[in-house]
Amino acid sequence: MDFTLTEEQKMVQRTIREFIEKEVMPYEPQVLRNEREGRPGLSREEIRELQLKAKRLGFWGINTPEEYGGANLGPVMTALIQMEVGRTFVPFQFGGSADNILYACNEEQKQRYLIPVINGERRSCFALTEPGAGSDAANIRMSAVKDGRYWVLNGEKIFITNGNEADFAMVFAVTDKEKGARGGVTCFLVDREMGWRSEPIQTMGEWSPASLIFENVRVPEENVLGEVGGGFNLAMRWIGQGRWVIPARGIGAAERLLQMAIDHAKMRVTFGKPIAERQAIQWMIADSAVEIEATRWLVLRAAWLAERGLDNRHAASMAKLYGANMANRVCDRVLQIHGGMGYTKELPIERWYREMRVWRIFEGTDEIQRFIIARNLLRGYVKVGELMD
Ligand SMILES: Cc1cc2nc3c(=O)[nH]c(=O)nc-3n(C[C@H](O)[C@H](O)[C@H](O)COP(=O)(O)OP(=O)(O)OC[C@H]3O[C@@H](n4cnc5c(N)ncnc54)[C@H](O)[C@@H]3O)c2cc1C
Repeated sequence: MDFTLTEEQKMVQRTIREFIEKEVMPYEPQVLRNEREGRPGLSREEIRELQLKAKRLGFWGINTPEEYGGANLGPVMTALIQMEVGRTFVPFQFGGSADNILYACNEEQKQRYLIPVINGERRSCFALTEPGAGSDAANIRMSAVKDGRYWVLNGEKIFITNGNEADFAMVFAVTDKEKGARGGVTCFLVDREMGWRSEPIQTMGEWSPASLIFENVRVPEENVLGEVGGGFNLAMRWIGQGRWVIPARGIGAAERLLQMAIDHAKMRVTFGKPIAERQAIQWMIADSAVEIEATRWLVLRAAWLAERGLDNRHAASMAKLYGANMANRVCDRVLQIHGGMGYTKELPIERWYREMRVWRIFEGTDEIQRFIIARNLLRGYVKVGELMD
């Protein structure tokens, strides 16, 4: 077995680390200030400027096929890159990307939706969750009824990331009640001008999702994404993609936090000695380091399976469950090691603490990941002690 990264992977890692440290981290004080005053951490223009700087280094569309101008670096490289990006809480992401399911657009839809999203000219949101259906996404109730050349959508979506800013939504609605998630859910590309409204939802973090309200919104039939009845599979494809990206970011964040704790522990003296010399503190540091390392290999394995075109759903669920919890545990310990200062807004620990909590909830809660992992084992889809390929 060879754990060595290729020269190219090492080079990418170094370049991104340098980019994040030199170009993105300097925004951290401004992000904290803005957010605390109720503004977005970075303006759209600032994000764009950073994205264009990254583009000059060759990082544009890291998962976007070359034919659309992307670098298409593949899952393993993406995991390595996200670990580096996670080292800052500045809300930065590389430009030149689009939701994976927008590649299901037909040629005409690609011009109106996929390509403008890749170019950063239009913004999308993914609207599946409803007030009555979150984990149990198969139970969505938003209805789409055919009326001539239109589908008429009625219902409400909730907790939709970018729902307030998006120019269009990828909306999942029931087109056949009998079939439900087994062929009765369809995905629609719905422009805001077609008549849906959004209302922001305040959360404990800086993430401000929205409710989307649909009252007799008329959507032309050419705005069906993929096949009528094929929406649930598209939704699962979208969700599945993010499962190992969240813990990848968690690794970067946890590493940065742990370093803060190490620095603080060496400096802070109580009862005549630095707290770093106390076993209670050392154990928190040691446990955190072990858990970060364990997450790294869970994430890389999930990414490696995806890279080879193999089914990575079990591995991705394990990475998401373990990694999201790891980040929360590490952040909590780091806050503890900082004592009262850890609880203040002088330091970014509380900012991270609030953000990370949602990692255990969206893209499949802890309980849903456990359910998936246990089901795979109980039904024999995955065998305990199976020899590795
Ligand atoms: C900040 C934020 C951003 C989001 N962004 C989006 C987005 O962009 N698009 C989108 O469509 N959705 C989005 N979501 C919604 C998110 O995916 C759901 O909140 C999540 O799937 C959980 O659903 P729920 O909130 O309805 O909780 P519920 O499904 O009601 O679950 C409540 C609790 O019960 C547990 N539970 C549920 N079923 C079971 C079971 N069978 N066995 C054991 N325990 C169970 C859950 O794990 C949870 O602890 C976002 C949510 C948040 C908070």
